[in-house]
Amino acid sequence: MFEQEVSVSPYNFMKEVVEKSSMPEKITVYDSTLRDGEQMPGVSFNKEEKLTIARALDEIGLTQIEAGFPAVSEEEKGAVSAVKKEGLSAEILALSRLRKEDIAVCLDCDIDMILLFIASSPLHLKYKLRMTEEEVLENTGTLVQYAKDHGLKTSFSTEDSTRTEYSFLEKINRIAEEHGADRIGLTDTVGCISPEGMKNLATKVSQSIKTPFSIHLHNDFGLALANALVGVQCGASAVATTVNGIGERGGNLALEEFVVAMKVLYDKDLGINTECFKDMSDLVERLSGIKLSKNKPLVGKHAFSHESGIHVAATLECPMTYEAIPPALVGNKRRLVLGKHSGKTVVKDRLKEKGIEASEEEVCDILREIKAIGEQKGRVSNREFWEVVKKHVQE
Ligand code: MN
Repeated sequence: MFEQEVSVSPYNFMKEVVEKSSMPEKITVYDSTLRDGEQMPGVSFNKEEKLTIARALDEIGLTQIEAGFPAVSEEEKGAVSAVKKEGLSAEILALSRLRKEDIAVCLDCDIDMILLFIASSPLHLKYKLRMTEEEVLENTGTLVQYAKDHGLKTSFSTEDSTRTEYSFLEKINRIAEEHGADRIGLTDTVGCISPEGMKNLATKVSQSIKTPFSIHLHNDFGLALANALVGVQCGASAVATTVNGIGERGGNLALEEFVVAMKVLYDKDLGINTECFKDMSDLVERLSGIKLSKNKPLVGKHAFSHESGIHVAATLECPMTYEAIPPALVGNKRRLVLGKHSGKTVVKDRLKEKGIEASEEEVCDILREIKAIGEQKGRVSNREFWEVVKKHVQE
């Protein structure tokens, strides 16, 4: 059997490409499946489910897990506390509005890091918070200080940063920094920034503060991954993800996509075991009730499936022809699917596996019938395949 290696575009590693990056040495993934993932309509994890997912994330090497938003309910507070009490290796993070009451609930949960946030865009200030810029600035200073004074490792994020005028954003970030924030977050709350816009903004942020900065991105235009990759190249050292990219509207940056892209497209190992991604994805699919689409990159059922005769024939010769990475790298499987686009190779391969000998003519007859079924029904099941074989091959 052909030993498959990774075979991605060599353009990724051209000197002029690599030289332009200011990617930090250490990048932390803080997974938010249990918080922003749970904000997806229809998703609710109870305490046991949160514990199960947190344990799995910890086991595959996540070093920071955002366990929830304790101020939401007593039950949520209990779940976050329980995740913290589990004594995992990962640090446990929790979300908090920029309010004393929320900070107090987080303190009760004994978490490792608080994720304070307040909206900063004119739209959110006017229609949601009904606050002035001055009030936001004042609260930022006071409450970051309050969290720090209570011994909390503190991350401070502006919500809707990407629709906030930069001069204001810079002022808030500076105040958070002056009051001791350990991390400053940039968020694309409605997923509306382009990679070029992200490059501009992340570069500005990185140049104006010394504090490490994080990025939290949504996928409304399918750009969460592109924006994350640009963000880390411009200096972001922490990135929020969710398993399967679950989350509000178009979802969040998918954990598996970001980690694998970093590993194979940027040669940056984040210390997370990618071979468990399919299992992780299955677990979250089951507990969230959000069905994965078959063509979901990396972890979808068809991420490594081939039907076209030309593709199947080439893949069997050398998988790298139509797969840039081996499915095992993400714990997925290769599937050779029978259908109207099938060719002789897949038929021969299946017969050979069972030690069945068939003449060239018999193979052609089988194929003709398989293609007809595929054309009619869109797919050909295993049972149908073997029925066709029985009809044409004398034993
Ligand atoms: Mn979000």
